[in-house]
Amino acid sequence: MILYLILFLRNLIDEKEDSTTITILAQNYLMSIQVQQVSKVYGAQKALDQISFEINKGEIVGFLGPNGAGKSTMMKIICGYLPPSTGQVSVCDLPVYEHELLVKQKIGYLPEHNPLYLDQYVKEFLDFIADIHQIPNKKERIAEVIGLTGLSLEQNKKISALSKGYRQRVGIAQAIIHDPEVLILDEPTTGLDPNQIVEIRQLIQKIGAEKTVMLSTHIMQEVEAICSRAIIVNRGQVVADQSVQDLKNNNQKFIFEIEFEKPCSKEFFLSIKGILFIDQLAADKYCIHCENENVRKAIVEESLKSNNLLTQITRKGESLEHIFQQLTK
Ligand code: ADP
Ligand code: MG
Repeated sequence: MILYLILFLRNLIDEKEDSTTITILAQNYLMSIQVQQVSKVYGAQKALDQISFEINKGEIVGFLGPNGAGKSTMMKIICGYLPPSTGQVSVCDLPVYEHELLVKQKIGYLPEHNPLYLDQYVKEFLDFIADIHQIPNKKERIAEVIGLTGLSLEQNKKISALSKGYRQRVGIAQAIIHDPEVLILDEPTTGLDPNQIVEIRQLIQKIGAEKTVMLSTHIMQEVEAICSRAIIVNRGQVVADQSVQDLKNNNQKFIFEIEFEKPCSKEFFLSIKGILFIDQLAADKYCIHCENENVRKAIVEESLKSNNLLTQITRKGESLEHIFQQLTK
């Protein structure tokens, strides 16, 4: 950490001269994050393979993928902690590896597994991070961030004494202390209990109202709960980049749950065209997967013909979890 501090100060002196002009330029940026054709090779393994995407100012985007998909690698590259093998990354229109220091001021980063100094007290730790960022009005800002992240009662405790949920709050507090415009959160809710998950999601939403947020997760519902868009990666490639609503609509299948007065014969279903497969849920209740919407009409007609009253027919939505499985299997 001391080495980091020395490097940080040295960079600060080096960059000071031209930083004023660039800072002005970077305040009027168009794109929060721009990733162009980025690949990353670790030895013989390709962790990222020609990844491209953009995140606009103010978006909360979910970066989804199974373990090993390349999420953390991509996030470290965006934050300037890892160079890409090929490709370009810009943050607030600034190429990351040309303006490392400025980019680090623009980004708040919560790494995976949230590395904290467990022996430090919450306030002491935030004071240390505030010094690294050379924050003016340090005391006021620390108090503000403690309030914002709900750490008021914990601020004088040792980090080792905190629950995992509160440690994540400390991680988020250190990520926002310098008031960055872009937040990169690597699996912020992994390993938390259900109540803590809800609390951290609410905190991200609250903070995200004024920032651009990219958060990685392998939980589809997380994206549905707080993100407007999902970028899904699998084996180092982008397999989907859509709004959550489009993702649902475009992958919608025709699944109907139907119930009759009495069980249906095999012939009943054989006479209807377009049924792909049937799950029998009860003696007289079925879930049918169809090729198209027209099957609904055919079922109604066939039930009238066969004198077996159709008591219920409901269209079932494809769960986002299932869509995710299909895209990443
Ligand atoms: P995710 O965060 O989606 O789980 P990672 O970015 O951590 O994925 O990893 C992507 C792939 O790159 C994995 O197969 C992982 O084993 C590999 N990998 C990650 N970091 C390193 C490293 N430092 N050295 C070698 N391989 C790595
Ligand atoms: Mg990861």
